[in-house]
Parts: sequence; structure tokens; C-alpha cells
Amino acid sequence: MTVHGGRVAVVGGSIAGCAAALAAARAGADEVVVYERTPGGLQDRGVGLAVRDERYRELEAAGYVDAAMPWVRLTTRTWLTRDGGDRAGRRLGELPFPFRSYNWGSLWRELRARVPASVDYRQGATVEQVVPEPDGVGLRLADGREERFDLVVGADGYRSAVRAATRAATVPVYAGYLAWRGTVPADALPGPRTAWAEDEAATVTFPGGHMIAYRIPGAHGVGTFANWVFYTAPPPSAAPALREATSLPPGTVTDELMAHHAAVVERHFPPYWQEFVRLTPRERTFVQPLYDLAVPHYGEGRLVLAGDAAAVTRPHTGSGAVKALQDATVLERALRSATSWDEAVRAYDAERSAAGLAVVELARRLGRAQVEATPDWAAMDQGALEQWWREAADGERVFGGQELKWPGRGVREDR
Ligand SMILES: Cc1cc2nc3c(=O)[nH]c(=O)nc-3n(C[C@H](O)[C@H](O)[C@H](O)COP(=O)(O)OP(=O)(O)OC[C@H]3O[C@@H](n4cnc5c(N)ncnc54)[C@H](O)[C@@H]3O)c2cc1C
Repeated sequence: MTVHGGRVAVVGGSIAGCAAALAAARAGADEVVVYERTPGGLQDRGVGLAVRDERYRELEAAGYVDAAMPWVRLTTRTWLTRDGGDRAGRRLGELPFPFRSYNWGSLWRELRARVPASVDYRQGATVEQVVPEPDGVGLRLADGREERFDLVVGADGYRSAVRAATRAATVPVYAGYLAWRGTVPADALPGPRTAWAEDEAATVTFPGGHMIAYRIPGAHGVGTFANWVFYTAPPPSAAPALREATSLPPGTVTDELMAHHAAVVERHFPPYWQEFVRLTPRERTFVQPLYDLAVPHYGEGRLVLAGDAAAVTRPHTGSGAVKALQDATVLERALRSATSWDEAVRAYDAERSAAGLAVVELARRLGRAQVEATPDWAAMDQGALEQWWREAADGERVFGGQELKWPGRGVREDR
């Protein structure tokens, strides 16, 4: 049997929200309403993300992504140091990197387009209060309206209002360092062209952090960009203000943080990579403080959490978007196969809570190894790099996201 019918609300209309709305609609909900507080489209605020090949194939089989979404093939992650190198640095070694890179904006737009027209996707709609009831959930909106649903999916990101209504009410914990991010149009990259292969994720190492750069498609599938993410701790004087901050969007990054970034780049980067980073102007550089969060339970009563509302990982695991999409595939299966809402929530909770904890724990390990307690990178060779990575990435069991398990093949077969 299936939990057919009913009213399902999804709070948040980003990656997790669009995917969860798709899941609820496919599983047969009578009515699905998405509340997204941002009035316009979300697509222009994102940059790049990477999806591991095996995880992509599972999500494609489940019908949440397809080959039409523009992507760039990545195969190898090279590790570089300035010491003893030429203009582009010295290669310490390389590791396999079987990922597809995406433009965040196109991925969101494609998912948004998959949400059926029957779903009521409301923009500029902020949920202010979530009231769990014995057999449903009440939502109070910022405009004063109140609505009641059989099930509410919290896909409202790392400061989730839905999570705050659960008993755990866990809050994100600042990881102690930041990510500076930006992009450079591929046709503006410094020479020589051989410095950096198309399918390469280049990692520039330095004491106390690193920068990873890889190519991504342009926002509308037009052109190619190089996406970079630079991780290190802020100067001590800037740290207190960042503990509670959300991300600092382009144009709002402080002089102190820009100067810190520039000083680290000048001191530690090979000349090619200094030139590369400087091609992103200040008004297009943004900063994200990093957090850890994993709820003990993804489901409680008639509330379920998905994506960053349930578990926030530092980006080193390459699995933020994958995790959100996996949550949706499992939610769809749970709703289809359960005979009651309670059974569906329990099934979803049992599968996703453990997955969330595993990926957050790996992100902490990778953060320690690559930022908080960096090795003597310059002393490493290929063998030492492989050994260090095996330990840091815990044998890669969860790197790029956990394997998605479900009985049988493709959840869409019984539609
Ligand atoms: C504009 C934007 C750009 C991003 N760009 C990137 C990127 O380039 N690379 C990358 O790896 N990750 C990016 N992320 C983060 C990435 O989407 C997440 O880490 C991951 O994909 C999980 O997404 P999510 O849907 O769970 O959370 P989020 O993407 O954070 O989405 C949460 C959504 O909930 C909405 N919301 C929050 N509270 C309420 C409320 N009370 N009522 C109604 N709506 C609410 C927010 O407006 C937001 O759209 C971006 C997120 C956003 C919102």
C-alpha cells in the first residue's frame, strides 16, 4: 500500500526543496505546497559543485538528474606546492577524482523545472512558525496566514525553522575557518594553457589550508568557468563576528577578510595561481563560514528534515547537493511503500539519520587534515600523498556521498 493523497508542505525551495516536492508529488500526495522566502529565482547566487560518478548514476536511475544538465568531466585531483616549483607550482602527486562538476544555478533551475505544475511553488513566502500537532502540522506564515498539512518537509537550510520545532532543535557549530569562493571565465585563464588540464581539480596547498579549483559549466550552459574555493582560518580579530554569520555574499566581504586572503595567496601560492585568483574581482568574491551539524533524527511526528536542514557538512566531502537529492529519493520510496504517515516518517528517519551523521563526520576529518592540522605538504611524494589521503578520507567510503541503497532498481518503475 501507499500513503496516497494528503497535503504535504515543503519549507524551502532550493535543491532539497525542489527535490522533496518532486518526491511528494511522485509518491501521490494530493496537494504539495513549497514555501520559498526568496522572491526571485535562486539561480544567480550559486557557483560550482561536484557530484561523484557513482552517486550521479544512482540519482539518474531514480529520475532526479539527467545527462541534459550541463556538466564538466573531472578525472584527477592534483596537489601542488609553491616550494621548488615552476610558475604553476610543483606537483606533489595526484589522486583519482571521478566527479562531474555542475553550475549550482543550472542544477537548481533543472530541478525547479522538474517540479510538476500541480505543485504550488510560492515565492516570497516565509514560514515563521511550525506547530507540530498529533496528526499533522500547522504553519504560520510571515503574512499572518495559517495552514495545516499532513506532513511538513523542512528543506529550509542550515538555519531551519522546521528543525527548530523538533525536540532535538540542534544548531550548527562554527568549524573555526572559512571558505572564500569565486569564479574566473575559462577564456580569461592565465597562460600557459598546459598549466592545468580541463579534467583536473587542482589543489594548491599551504600551511593551514588549501584551495581547490575546477572547471564548471556557465550558468545557462553557456561557456566554461573555473570555480575556486579557498579554505583557511580568518585572522583572530575577525573570528568572533563570524561565529553566527551566514555567508557574506559578493560585495559584502570586509576589507580585513579580503586582505587576509590576499596575504595568504601572495605568501604561499605559485605565480600562476596568484594571477588566477586575482582575476576574480572583489565584488564577485564571497565568503562562507563553515559549520557542522547533524540531527540525531531526520523524522519526528509529522516533520521530516532534508538537505542542509538536517545535516550541514563542510564542503570537503563533495556531497552537499548529493545528500539533498538522496534524501528526496528515500523520501519518495518511504512515502510510496508505507501504509501510514508514521510508518513513512520512521522508514525515512531510519535510513537518512545514519547517512547524515556519516557524511558530517567525514567532513570533520577532512577539515582537520586539509585545514586545521595540515601535514608538511612540501615533503610529500605520490606515496605519502596516497597514504595520507587514505587515512584522512577513511578509505573513501563516504567521500562524494554514501552509496544510495534501495531494494531493487529505479524507484520510478511503479509510477
Ligand atoms: C542561493 C544559493 C546558492 C548556493 N550556491 C551554492 C554553490 O554554488 N555551491 C554549493 O556547493 N552549494 C551552494 N548552496 C548550498 C547548497 O544548495 C546546499 O548546501 C545543498 O545543496 C543543500 O541545499 P538545501 O536545499 O538543503 O539548502 P539551501 O540551498 O540552503 O536552501 C534552503 C532554502 O530554504 C529557504 N528558506 C530558509 N528558511 C525559510 C523559511 N523560514 N521559509 C521559507 N523558505 C526558507 C532559503 O531561502 C533557501 O532557498 C547554495 C544555496 C543557496 C540558497
